[in-house]
Amino acid sequence: MTAARSLTTVAELVDAGLIAETKRAETAAVAERYAVAVTPSLVSLMDATDPLDPIARQFLPDAAELVTLPEERADPIGDLAHSPVEGIVHRYPDRVLLKAVHVCPVYCRFCFRREMVGPEGLGTLSAKALDAAIAYIAERPEIWEVILTGGDPLVLSPRRLQAIMERLAAIPHVKIVRFHTRVPVVDPARIDAALVAALKASGKTTYVALHANHPREFTPEARAAIARIVESGLVMISQTVLLKGINDDADVLADLMRTFVENRIKPYYLHHPDLAPGTSHFRLTLAEGRTLVESLRGRVSGLCQPTYILDIPGGHGKVRADSRAVEEADNGCFRVRDFRGTTHVYPPEDGQA
Ligand SMILES: *Cc1c(COP(=O)(O)O)cnc(C)c1O
Ligand code: SF4
Repeated sequence: MTAARSLTTVAELVDAGLIAETKRAETAAVAERYAVAVTPSLVSLMDATDPLDPIARQFLPDAAELVTLPEERADPIGDLAHSPVEGIVHRYPDRVLLKAVHVCPVYCRFCFRREMVGPEGLGTLSAKALDAAIAYIAERPEIWEVILTGGDPLVLSPRRLQAIMERLAAIPHVKIVRFHTRVPVVDPARIDAALVAALKASGKTTYVALHANHPREFTPEARAAIARIVESGLVMISQTVLLKGINDDADVLADLMRTFVENRIKPYYLHHPDLAPGTSHFRLTLAEGRTLVESLRGRVSGLCQPTYILDIPGGHGKVRADSRAVEEADNGCFRVRDFRGTTHVYPPEDGQA
C-alpha cells in the first residue's frame, strides 16, 4: 500500500484499505475527538491484513479510544500547571520546554498531549508569544537547556527553525538545545541538508531525541535520515513509549534498543505510558514494566539500556520507574517519591493530582 500524501480523515483511511468499512462509523467518532494523520512512509509500512500490526496500532484510530477511565486526565503530566508564559513549560530549575508548535506529522494514538496537539490543538506560537517565550528564557540565567517539543518541532520550515536557533544562540547561558521529534522515522525525506543545518547554532550543542517504538520503524529511508543528522555532528538519543501489544516484549525491546545503537542513537528514556484519555488499551502495569526492563539487563549490551521513566501524574516530574523512589504498596498501587521528596500514589485515585 502506498499513498501520495498524508491521510488525515477516516474516509481516506477506509479508501486506502486501512480501516474496514464496517468500522467506519466508530472510527469517525474517534476522529471527531482526537487528531488523525498517517504519513505515506507509514502507510507503506503497515500490514492492513494483521489486526495486531505494531505500526498500524500506533497510528490508526480505534474504537477503544472512546473509553476514558476515571484516573485518565486531559493534561496527564501537568504541563499547563507549569506554564509561566505561553509555549514554555518550566518544571525543573535548569531546563525548559519550548513548545513552538502543536502540530505533528502523525498523531500517535497513545499521545500524552493528545488534548493539546492537532489541527484543533493549541496551534503554533504567534510571533508575539514566541518573543515572550524567548524573553522568559533570556531573563533566567539558570536555564542551561532548551527542549523544543510540541507537537513536533521538525514540522517547522528550516527558515523558521533557524530563526529560533539564532535567537537561542544569542542567549549566553543556554548551552544545550534539544529537539524531540518523530520526523526521521515517519517522514524521513523531510530531513534534508537545509533542515539539518538549521538545527545548529554557533556555540551551542544540539541533541536530537528520536521517538520510535518498534524496530520496523527503521526503514532504509529512516536510517539514511538519521545518518544525515549524526554525520552533521549532532548527538542523537532515543525516546520510546512502552506500549502493550506493540513493544511490551523482551525480544522486541532488545531489538529496538539495539537498532537505536546500530544507528548511532544512544537509548535514553523508555517511558511508562501516561494517563492520557482513551489510552488504557495501551497501558501495562508498573510491575509488568519493571519485569520487562529488568529482563534487558544481561540480555543486551550496556549501550542498549534505556532509563525506565514514570512521569508522575499531576506535573510532579519524572522519576526512574525501577528505582527505590517507586515502591510497591498494597493491591497493585505504588508509592512514588518525586524529586522534591513528596510522595504520591500511583495510579492516582480518581480526581487527585
Ligand atoms: C520531561 C521534561 C523535561 C526533560 O527532562 P529530562 O529528564 O531532562 O529529559 C524538562 N522539562 C519538562 C517540563 C519535562 O516534562
Ligand atoms: S509525535 Fe509526540 S506529540 Fe505528536 S502525537 Fe506522537 S506522541 Fe504526541
